[in-house]
Amino acid sequence: GQCATHCPVGAIYELDEGGTFLHEASKSEKVVAVQIAPAVRVALGEEFGFKAGEITTGKIYTALKRLGADYVFDTNFGADMTIMEEGSELVKRVSEGGVLPQLTSCCPGWIEYVTKYYPDLIENLSSAKSPMMMQGAITKTYWAEKMGIDPANVYSVAIMPCTAKKIEIKRDEHMKSSGYDDVDLVLTTRELARIIRQRGIDFASLPETEVDSPIGEYSGAGTIFGVTGGVMEAAIRTAYNAITGKDLSDPDIMTVRGRGEFRHGAIDVDGKATLRFGVVHGMANAKEVLDEIRNAKARGERAPYEFIEIMACRGGCIAGGGQPLGTDDEIRSKRTSGSYTDDKNCAKRCSHQNPSVQKIYSEFFEAPLSEKAHHLLHTSYKEVPVYKN
Ligand code: SF4
Repeated sequence: GQCATHCPVGAIYELDEGGTFLHEASKSEKVVAVQIAPAVRVALGEEFGFKAGEITTGKIYTALKRLGADYVFDTNFGADMTIMEEGSELVKRVSEGGVLPQLTSCCPGWIEYVTKYYPDLIENLSSAKSPMMMQGAITKTYWAEKMGIDPANVYSVAIMPCTAKKIEIKRDEHMKSSGYDDVDLVLTTRELARIIRQRGIDFASLPETEVDSPIGEYSGAGTIFGVTGGVMEAAIRTAYNAITGKDLSDPDIMTVRGRGEFRHGAIDVDGKATLRFGVVHGMANAKEVLDEIRNAKARGERAPYEFIEIMACRGGCIAGGGQPLGTDDEIRSKRTSGSYTDDKNCAKRCSHQNPSVQKIYSEFFEAPLSEKAHHLLHTSYKEVPVYKN
Protein backbone atom coordinates (compact mmCIF):
# COMPACT_ATOMS: atom_id res chain seq x y z
CA GLY A 1 0.00 0.00 0.00
CA GLN A 2 0.96 3.61 0.13
CA CYS A 3 2.81 3.20 3.40
CA ALA A 4 5.03 0.57 1.85
CA THR A 5 5.62 2.59 -1.28
CA HIS A 6 6.50 5.80 0.51
CA CYS A 7 8.28 4.39 3.49
CA PRO A 8 11.55 6.31 3.68
CA VAL A 9 13.58 3.62 5.35
CA GLY A 10 12.37 0.62 3.39
CA ALA A 11 12.09 -2.91 4.53
CA ILE A 12 13.39 -2.60 8.07
CA TYR A 13 10.62 -0.22 9.06
CA GLU A 14 8.07 -2.43 7.40
CA LEU A 15 9.27 -5.50 9.18
CA ASP A 16 9.44 -3.81 12.54
CA GLU A 17 5.87 -2.68 12.15
CA GLY A 18 5.16 -6.35 12.63
CA GLY A 19 2.73 -6.51 9.76
CA THR A 20 3.83 -7.14 6.24
CA PHE A 21 4.26 -4.84 3.36
CA LEU A 22 2.68 -7.49 1.19
CA HIS A 23 -0.43 -7.54 3.29
CA GLU A 24 -0.66 -3.75 3.29
CA ALA A 25 -0.01 -3.52 -0.43
CA SER A 26 -2.57 -6.20 -1.12
CA LYS A 27 -5.24 -4.22 0.73
CA SER A 28 -4.57 -1.21 -1.47
CA GLU A 29 -5.13 -0.76 -5.18
CA LYS A 30 -1.55 -1.83 -5.89
CA VAL A 31 -0.99 -5.02 -7.81
CA VAL A 32 1.79 -6.85 -5.98
CA ALA A 33 4.14 -8.84 -8.22
CA VAL A 34 6.89 -10.77 -6.47
CA GLN A 35 9.92 -12.55 -7.93
CA ILE A 36 12.18 -15.04 -6.16
CA ALA A 37 15.87 -15.47 -6.93
CA PRO A 38 17.49 -18.80 -7.91
CA ALA A 39 19.31 -19.24 -4.59
CA VAL A 40 16.28 -18.62 -2.36
CA ARG A 41 14.61 -21.93 -3.24
CA VAL A 42 17.50 -24.07 -1.98
CA ALA A 43 17.92 -22.23 1.33
CA LEU A 44 14.70 -20.75 2.72
CA GLY A 45 13.52 -24.18 3.86
CA GLU A 46 16.41 -24.33 6.35
CA GLU A 47 14.54 -21.75 8.44
CA PHE A 48 11.64 -24.20 8.74
CA GLY A 49 13.32 -27.51 9.40
CA PHE A 50 14.18 -28.57 5.86
CA LYS A 51 17.69 -29.73 5.05
CA ALA A 52 20.10 -27.37 3.31
CA GLY A 53 19.63 -27.68 -0.43
CA GLU A 54 16.08 -29.02 -0.27
CA ILE A 55 14.07 -27.37 -3.02
CA THR A 56 10.95 -25.65 -1.69
CA THR A 57 10.03 -23.51 -4.69
CA GLY A 58 6.33 -24.49 -4.80
CA LYS A 59 5.89 -23.78 -1.08
CA ILE A 60 7.59 -20.39 -1.43
CA TYR A 61 5.19 -19.44 -4.23
CA THR A 62 2.26 -20.43 -1.98
CA ALA A 63 3.65 -18.56 1.03
CA LEU A 64 4.02 -15.38 -1.03
CA LYS A 65 0.42 -15.62 -2.23
CA ARG A 66 -0.77 -16.09 1.36
CA LEU A 67 1.24 -13.00 2.32
CA GLY A 68 -0.67 -10.98 -0.22
CA ALA A 69 1.21 -11.29 -3.51
CA ASP A 70 -1.20 -11.05 -6.41
CA TYR A 71 1.28 -12.61 -8.82
CA VAL A 72 4.39 -14.64 -8.18
CA PHE A 73 7.08 -14.72 -10.82
CA ASP A 74 10.54 -16.15 -10.85
CA THR A 75 13.89 -14.39 -11.21
CA ASN A 76 14.98 -17.56 -13.00
CA PHE A 77 12.96 -16.34 -15.97
CA GLY A 78 14.94 -13.08 -15.73
CA ALA A 79 18.12 -15.18 -15.59
CA ASP A 80 17.12 -16.87 -18.85
CA MET A 81 16.64 -13.40 -20.35
CA THR A 82 20.05 -12.33 -19.04
CA ILE A 83 21.63 -15.28 -20.82
CA MET A 84 19.90 -14.39 -24.08
CA GLU A 85 21.22 -10.84 -23.89
CA GLU A 86 24.62 -11.48 -22.32
CA GLY A 87 25.27 -14.53 -24.51
CA SER A 88 24.40 -12.55 -27.65
CA GLU A 89 26.64 -9.73 -26.47
CA LEU A 90 29.50 -12.21 -26.03
CA VAL A 91 29.03 -13.72 -29.49
CA LYS A 92 28.93 -10.18 -30.94
CA ARG A 93 32.08 -9.07 -29.13
CA VAL A 94 33.92 -12.17 -30.28
CA SER A 95 32.79 -11.93 -33.90
CA GLU A 96 33.17 -8.16 -34.22
CA GLY A 97 36.39 -7.69 -32.30
CA GLY A 98 34.80 -6.01 -29.26
CA VAL A 99 36.46 -5.59 -25.86
CA LEU A 100 37.33 -8.96 -24.35
CA PRO A 101 37.28 -10.74 -22.01
CA GLN A 102 33.65 -9.98 -21.28
CA LEU A 103 33.00 -9.87 -17.54
CA THR A 104 29.65 -10.79 -15.97
CA SER A 105 27.62 -7.99 -14.42
CA CYS A 106 24.82 -9.64 -12.46
CA CYS A 107 26.44 -9.44 -8.99
CA PRO A 108 26.07 -5.97 -7.44
CA GLY A 109 28.79 -6.74 -4.88
CA TRP A 110 31.26 -7.28 -7.72
CA ILE A 111 29.96 -4.21 -9.60
CA GLU A 112 30.63 -2.04 -6.52
CA TYR A 113 34.17 -3.38 -6.44
CA VAL A 114 35.04 -3.05 -10.12
CA THR A 115 33.58 0.45 -10.50
CA LYS A 116 35.69 1.60 -7.55
CA TYR A 117 38.96 -0.28 -7.89
CA TYR A 118 39.21 -1.33 -11.55
CA PRO A 119 37.42 1.46 -13.46
CA ASP A 120 39.71 0.70 -16.42
CA LEU A 121 37.86 -2.62 -16.74
CA ILE A 122 34.36 -1.11 -16.91
CA GLU A 123 34.52 -1.48 -20.70
CA ASN A 124 34.88 -5.24 -20.17
CA LEU A 125 31.64 -5.49 -18.18
CA SER A 126 28.64 -6.95 -19.93
CA SER A 127 25.99 -4.28 -20.39
CA ALA A 128 23.28 -6.85 -19.56
CA LYS A 129 21.31 -6.04 -16.43
CA SER A 130 21.05 -8.58 -13.65
CA PRO A 131 18.19 -11.11 -13.74
CA MET A 132 16.39 -9.21 -10.95
CA MET A 133 16.48 -5.92 -12.82
CA MET A 134 15.44 -7.51 -16.12
CA GLN A 135 12.54 -9.23 -14.38
CA GLY A 136 11.47 -5.94 -12.77
CA ALA A 137 11.62 -4.01 -16.06
CA ILE A 138 9.69 -6.73 -17.87
CA THR A 139 7.04 -6.83 -15.11
CA LYS A 140 6.29 -3.12 -15.46
CA THR A 141 6.31 -3.09 -19.27
CA TYR A 142 5.58 -6.29 -21.20
CA TRP A 143 3.57 -7.93 -18.45
CA ALA A 144 1.64 -4.85 -17.28
CA GLU A 145 0.79 -4.04 -20.88
CA LYS A 146 -0.36 -7.60 -21.53
CA MET A 147 -2.54 -7.54 -18.41
CA GLY A 148 -3.94 -4.07 -19.07
CA ILE A 149 -2.56 -2.85 -15.74
CA ASP A 150 -1.18 0.66 -15.29
CA PRO A 151 2.49 0.11 -14.30
CA ALA A 152 2.09 2.97 -11.82
CA ASN A 153 -0.10 0.57 -9.86
CA VAL A 154 2.32 -2.34 -9.89
CA TYR A 155 4.40 -2.89 -6.76
CA SER A 156 7.41 -4.96 -7.72
CA VAL A 157 9.08 -6.97 -4.96
CA ALA A 158 12.17 -9.18 -5.19
CA ILE A 159 13.14 -11.88 -2.70
CA MET A 160 16.94 -12.13 -2.85
CA PRO A 161 19.80 -14.01 -1.16
CA CYS A 162 21.69 -10.76 -1.18
CA THR A 163 21.91 -7.53 0.81
CA ALA A 164 23.71 -5.69 -2.03
CA LYS A 165 20.59 -6.14 -4.17
CA LYS A 166 18.89 -3.53 -1.93
CA ILE A 167 21.35 -0.96 -3.24
CA GLU A 168 21.24 -2.16 -6.83
CA ILE A 169 17.58 -1.19 -7.34
CA LYS A 170 18.49 2.46 -6.69
CA ARG A 171 21.76 2.49 -8.63
CA ASP A 172 20.88 4.94 -11.40
CA GLU A 173 18.30 5.92 -14.00
CA HIS A 174 18.68 2.58 -15.80
CA MET A 175 16.93 0.97 -12.83
CA LYS A 176 13.83 3.00 -13.80
CA SER A 177 13.75 1.94 -17.42
CA SER A 178 10.02 1.23 -17.28
CA GLY A 179 9.39 4.85 -16.27
CA TYR A 180 8.99 3.73 -12.65
CA ASP A 181 11.24 1.98 -10.19
CA ASP A 182 11.62 -1.36 -11.98
CA VAL A 183 11.92 -3.05 -8.57
CA ASP A 184 10.31 -1.29 -5.62
CA LEU A 185 11.54 -3.42 -2.75
CA VAL A 186 14.12 -6.12 -2.06
CA LEU A 187 13.71 -8.48 0.86
CA THR A 188 16.30 -11.09 1.73
CA THR A 189 15.67 -14.79 2.21
CA ARG A 190 16.02 -14.28 5.99
CA GLU A 191 13.57 -11.39 5.98
CA LEU A 192 11.02 -13.45 4.08
CA ALA A 193 11.44 -16.27 6.61
CA ARG A 194 10.82 -13.79 9.39
CA ILE A 195 7.66 -12.45 7.76
CA ILE A 196 6.37 -15.98 7.24
CA ARG A 197 6.90 -16.69 10.96
CA GLN A 198 5.37 -13.36 12.03
CA ARG A 199 2.25 -14.16 10.06
CA GLY A 200 2.01 -17.56 11.69
CA ILE A 201 2.23 -19.49 8.42
CA ASP A 202 3.21 -23.12 8.85
CA PHE A 203 5.64 -23.22 5.94
CA ALA A 204 6.41 -26.93 6.12
CA SER A 205 2.78 -27.93 5.61
CA LEU A 206 2.03 -25.51 2.77
CA PRO A 207 0.84 -27.05 -0.48
CA GLU A 208 2.95 -26.40 -3.55
CA THR A 209 1.67 -24.09 -6.25
CA GLU A 210 2.86 -23.15 -9.72
CA VAL A 211 4.49 -19.94 -10.78
CA ASP A 212 2.43 -17.39 -12.68
CA SER A 213 2.76 -17.23 -16.43
CA PRO A 214 4.14 -15.97 -18.80
CA ILE A 215 7.16 -14.44 -17.04
CA GLY A 216 7.69 -17.16 -14.48
CA GLU A 217 8.64 -20.34 -16.34
CA TYR A 218 12.34 -21.07 -16.32
CA SER A 219 14.94 -23.38 -17.76
CA GLY A 220 17.60 -25.30 -15.86
CA ALA A 221 20.12 -22.72 -17.04
CA GLY A 222 18.21 -20.02 -15.15
CA THR A 223 18.23 -21.87 -11.85
CA ILE A 224 22.00 -22.51 -11.71
CA PHE A 225 22.69 -18.75 -11.70
CA GLY A 226 22.84 -19.00 -7.93
CA VAL A 227 25.91 -21.23 -7.97
CA THR A 228 29.51 -20.28 -8.80
CA GLY A 229 30.05 -21.23 -12.44
CA GLY A 230 26.32 -21.26 -13.12
CA VAL A 231 26.19 -18.14 -15.26
CA MET A 232 29.13 -19.45 -17.27
CA GLU A 233 27.49 -22.84 -17.79
CA ALA A 234 24.17 -21.26 -18.76
CA ALA A 235 25.94 -18.92 -21.20
CA ILE A 236 27.90 -21.76 -22.80
CA ARG A 237 24.72 -23.80 -23.35
CA THR A 238 23.18 -20.92 -25.30
CA ALA A 239 26.35 -19.61 -26.99
CA TYR A 240 26.95 -23.14 -28.31
CA ASN A 241 23.56 -23.00 -30.00
CA ALA A 242 24.15 -19.48 -31.32
CA ILE A 243 27.48 -20.50 -32.88
CA THR A 244 26.67 -23.98 -34.18
CA GLY A 245 22.89 -23.82 -34.71
CA LYS A 246 22.43 -26.97 -32.64
CA ASP A 247 22.15 -27.86 -28.97
CA LEU A 248 24.75 -29.57 -26.81
CA SER A 249 24.05 -33.28 -26.55
CA ASP A 250 24.92 -33.08 -22.86
CA PRO A 251 24.14 -29.73 -21.21
CA ASP A 252 26.12 -30.61 -18.05
CA ILE A 253 29.40 -28.74 -18.47
CA MET A 254 31.42 -30.25 -15.67
CA THR A 255 34.65 -28.33 -16.44
CA VAL A 256 33.19 -25.04 -15.18
CA ARG A 257 31.77 -26.55 -11.97
CA GLY A 258 33.56 -26.99 -8.68
CA ARG A 259 34.89 -25.10 -5.73
CA GLY A 260 38.25 -23.86 -7.00
CA GLU A 261 38.66 -20.16 -6.32
CA PHE A 262 39.77 -19.33 -9.86
CA ARG A 263 38.79 -22.02 -12.34
CA HIS A 264 39.69 -21.58 -15.95
CA GLY A 265 39.95 -23.59 -19.12
CA ALA A 266 38.83 -23.78 -22.71
CA ILE A 267 35.65 -25.17 -24.23
CA ASP A 268 35.72 -26.36 -27.80
CA VAL A 269 32.55 -25.24 -29.56
CA ASP A 270 32.19 -28.08 -32.06
CA GLY A 271 35.43 -27.15 -33.83
CA LYS A 272 33.97 -23.74 -34.77
CA ALA A 273 35.28 -21.69 -31.89
CA THR A 274 37.11 -21.95 -28.62
CA LEU A 275 35.73 -20.29 -25.54
CA ARG A 276 38.36 -19.62 -22.92
CA PHE A 277 36.58 -19.12 -19.64
CA GLY A 278 37.36 -18.04 -16.11
CA VAL A 279 35.20 -18.41 -13.00
CA VAL A 280 36.00 -16.54 -9.79
CA HIS A 281 34.07 -16.49 -6.54
CA GLY A 282 34.89 -14.59 -3.37
CA MET A 283 35.94 -10.99 -4.01
CA ALA A 284 39.40 -11.54 -2.54
CA ASN A 285 40.10 -14.06 -5.28
CA ALA A 286 39.36 -11.73 -8.17
CA LYS A 287 42.50 -9.61 -7.90
CA GLU A 288 44.78 -12.08 -9.64
CA VAL A 289 42.73 -12.30 -12.82
CA LEU A 290 41.78 -8.61 -12.79
CA ASP A 291 45.45 -7.64 -12.60
CA GLU A 292 46.18 -10.08 -15.41
CA ILE A 293 43.58 -8.31 -17.61
CA ARG A 294 44.85 -4.87 -16.59
CA ASN A 295 48.50 -5.71 -17.20
CA ALA A 296 47.75 -7.23 -20.58
CA LYS A 297 45.95 -4.03 -21.57
CA ALA A 298 48.94 -1.96 -20.49
CA ARG A 299 51.06 -4.02 -22.91
CA GLY A 300 48.53 -3.49 -25.69
CA GLU A 301 47.47 -7.13 -25.51
CA ARG A 302 44.51 -8.93 -24.07
CA ALA A 303 44.26 -11.54 -21.37
CA PRO A 304 43.62 -15.02 -22.78
CA TYR A 305 39.92 -15.37 -21.96
CA GLU A 306 36.71 -14.60 -23.76
CA PHE A 307 34.35 -14.66 -20.79
CA ILE A 308 34.87 -14.45 -17.05
CA GLU A 309 32.24 -14.91 -14.35
CA ILE A 310 32.81 -13.11 -11.07
CA MET A 311 30.66 -13.48 -7.96
CA ALA A 312 31.44 -11.64 -4.74
CA CYS A 313 30.29 -14.41 -2.41
CA ARG A 314 32.21 -17.62 -1.98
CA GLY A 315 30.16 -20.37 -3.58
CA GLY A 316 27.98 -17.78 -5.37
CA CYS A 317 24.57 -16.45 -4.33
CA ILE A 318 23.64 -19.70 -2.58
CA ALA A 319 25.95 -18.38 0.18
CA GLY A 320 24.87 -14.73 -0.10
CA GLY A 321 24.66 -12.26 2.76
CA GLY A 322 20.87 -12.49 2.96
CA GLN A 323 20.70 -16.27 3.24
CA PRO A 324 19.99 -18.21 6.46
CA LEU A 325 22.84 -17.65 8.89
CA GLY A 326 25.57 -20.13 9.65
CA THR A 327 26.57 -20.95 6.07
CA ASP A 328 29.64 -23.19 5.99
CA ASP A 329 31.21 -25.24 3.23
CA GLU A 330 29.00 -28.24 3.93
CA ILE A 331 25.90 -26.09 3.61
CA ARG A 332 27.35 -24.46 0.48
CA SER A 333 27.81 -27.83 -1.12
CA LYS A 334 24.29 -28.97 -0.23
CA ARG A 335 22.66 -25.83 -1.60
CA THR A 336 24.81 -26.23 -4.72
CA SER A 337 23.61 -29.82 -5.21
CA GLY A 338 20.04 -28.59 -4.75
CA SER A 339 20.52 -26.10 -7.58
CA TYR A 340 21.93 -28.72 -9.94
CA THR A 341 19.04 -31.05 -9.06
CA ASP A 342 16.57 -28.27 -9.87
CA ASP A 343 18.39 -27.84 -13.21
CA LYS A 344 18.15 -31.56 -14.00
CA ASN A 345 14.45 -31.57 -13.13
CA CYS A 346 13.69 -28.86 -15.68
CA ALA A 347 12.06 -29.92 -18.94
CA LYS A 348 14.23 -27.38 -20.77
CA ARG A 349 17.86 -27.03 -19.79
CA CYS A 350 18.86 -24.03 -21.93
CA SER A 351 17.61 -20.45 -21.76
CA HIS A 352 16.90 -20.21 -25.50
CA GLN A 353 14.65 -23.29 -25.25
CA ASN A 354 12.36 -21.66 -22.66
CA PRO A 355 8.99 -21.22 -24.48
CA SER A 356 8.21 -18.08 -22.44
CA VAL A 357 11.54 -16.59 -23.50
CA GLN A 358 10.79 -17.35 -27.15
CA LYS A 359 7.34 -15.82 -26.71
CA ILE A 360 8.56 -12.55 -25.22
CA TYR A 361 11.05 -12.11 -28.06
CA SER A 362 8.41 -12.75 -30.69
CA GLU A 363 5.77 -10.58 -29.00
CA PHE A 364 7.85 -7.76 -27.58
CA PHE A 365 11.63 -7.60 -27.88
CA GLU A 366 12.00 -8.96 -31.43
CA ALA A 367 15.55 -10.17 -30.86
CA PRO A 368 18.33 -10.04 -28.30
CA LEU A 369 20.17 -6.69 -28.39
CA SER A 370 17.26 -4.99 -30.19
CA GLU A 371 16.61 -1.31 -29.47
CA LYS A 372 13.85 -2.19 -27.02
CA ALA A 373 16.08 -4.79 -25.35
CA HIS A 374 18.84 -2.21 -25.03
CA HIS A 375 16.50 0.23 -23.38
CA LEU A 376 14.95 -2.18 -20.87
CA LEU A 377 17.49 -4.95 -20.39
CA HIS A 378 20.88 -3.24 -20.60
CA THR A 379 22.70 -0.66 -18.55
CA SER A 380 26.04 1.12 -18.33
CA TYR A 381 28.51 1.74 -15.52
CA LYS A 382 30.45 4.69 -14.26
CA GLU A 383 33.58 4.92 -12.16
CA VAL A 384 32.70 5.36 -8.49
CA PRO A 385 35.13 7.48 -6.47
CA VAL A 386 36.73 5.89 -3.46
CA TYR A 387 36.78 8.21 -0.49
CA LYS A 388 39.76 7.82 1.78
CA ASN A 389 39.98 9.27 5.29
FE1 SF4 B 1 24.73 -10.88 -3.96
FE2 SF4 B 1 26.72 -12.48 -3.24
FE3 SF4 B 1 25.09 -13.19 -5.24
FE4 SF4 B 1 26.82 -11.20 -5.55
S1 SF4 B 1 27.33 -13.37 -5.20
S2 SF4 B 1 24.66 -11.20 -6.18
S3 SF4 B 1 26.84 -10.23 -3.52
S4 SF4 B 1 24.52 -12.93 -3.09
